[in-house]
Amino acid sequence: MTTPTLALQNLTLPELEERLIALGEPKYRAGQVMRWLYEKRAESYEKMTDLPAALRALFVAEFPFVRLENVRVLGSKDTTQKFLFRLPDGALIESVLIPASPALYGDASDRRTICMSTQVGCAYGCKFCASGLDGFARNLSAAEIAGQFMEVERLSGERINNIVFMGMGEPLANFPNLMKAITIINSEWGIGLGARHITISTSGLAPQIRQLAEQPKQIRLAISLHGATDAVREQIMPVNKKYPIAALVDACEYYTTKKKQRITFEYILIKGVNDDTSHAADLARIVKHVGAKVNCIPYNHVEGLTWERPDESRQDAFMSVLERSNCIATIRREKGHDIAAACGQLRRQTMQK
Ligand code: SAH
Ligand code: SF4
Repeated sequence: MTTPTLALQNLTLPELEERLIALGEPKYRAGQVMRWLYEKRAESYEKMTDLPAALRALFVAEFPFVRLENVRVLGSKDTTQKFLFRLPDGALIESVLIPASPALYGDASDRRTICMSTQVGCAYGCKFCASGLDGFARNLSAAEIAGQFMEVERLSGERINNIVFMGMGEPLANFPNLMKAITIINSEWGIGLGARHITISTSGLAPQIRQLAEQPKQIRLAISLHGATDAVREQIMPVNKKYPIAALVDACEYYTTKKKQRITFEYILIKGVNDDTSHAADLARIVKHVGAKVNCIPYNHVEGLTWERPDESRQDAFMSVLERSNCIATIRREKGHDIAAACGQLRRQTMQK
């Protein structure tokens, strides 16, 4: 049987044209297929009624049609909604729909943001994160990544206009499939969402950040920093051993200069670990050095882990230091805490049942 990576939904328009020509079909059929997939959002090959029946039958026989099976939805229309999907091999992934997120982006826009996963599990084992607790299973294919967008639009009835790759997995460790998915999402023949509405969050893979800087698209970049010195960051994120802060900051500066873009540092506030005002001063130095902005996030407790969020007065003291240092800094006052919004938590709850 053909593996999911050979699904037609993993192909770009030029690749599909090539594939169809090899099958003896005219090139324009590729455009027809793309319209069925991304404009009309057909849910099977059988629905593609303007294709010759023999071609549809060939597709059914040769190429698996990637669909995400929705197993649970948590939350309601006005709040954060969480979607759990089962993939054909039984793997579970999750996506989150966030209605409007001025706290996250510092504006009052009507952004409807989807937070998408890029891998099943995660190999990086950050000490605060639910996604890494069960290790890494596999990369998502491009079709499984882009499929989350279309399936969440279908299930919610919403038009989504912003994507953050902040779900399960390390996006830059699945670089080729992520780039393919972004091409599908970004292209006119695909979903048609502008690159400026797409943010990749990374735990700090310095070489891949540089590689991303070489891409022509203006994709936004967020870095999970969480510690502003190696001593602090190493306790939170093992990846810091491989790419210490100096190497990470260099790569961030490269991205910023190359793209003429302000990047975002994410900084979870964890009680007694990284939430001291002296830590804020260390953070401010990095933020200003890179010309970045910083988004602070009070830690969401994860079952099975010991860390907690600091109380509000401590959060405020931390933010004051950033503000006094003239950093562009926001703090995310929770959305969806009650429905296990931090990445990987819903999947774990479901697996443990
Ligand atoms: N692997 C990528 C993408 C995952 S998003 C990365 O590490 O950047 C990871 C982000 O989700 C973190 O930076 C943090 O902003 C958020 N997050 C994950 N677990 C959290 C938790 N328990 N509480 C608060 N935020 C959390
Ligand atoms: Fe993986 Fe990101 Fe979670 Fe770290 S924070 S374990 S890199 S998903």
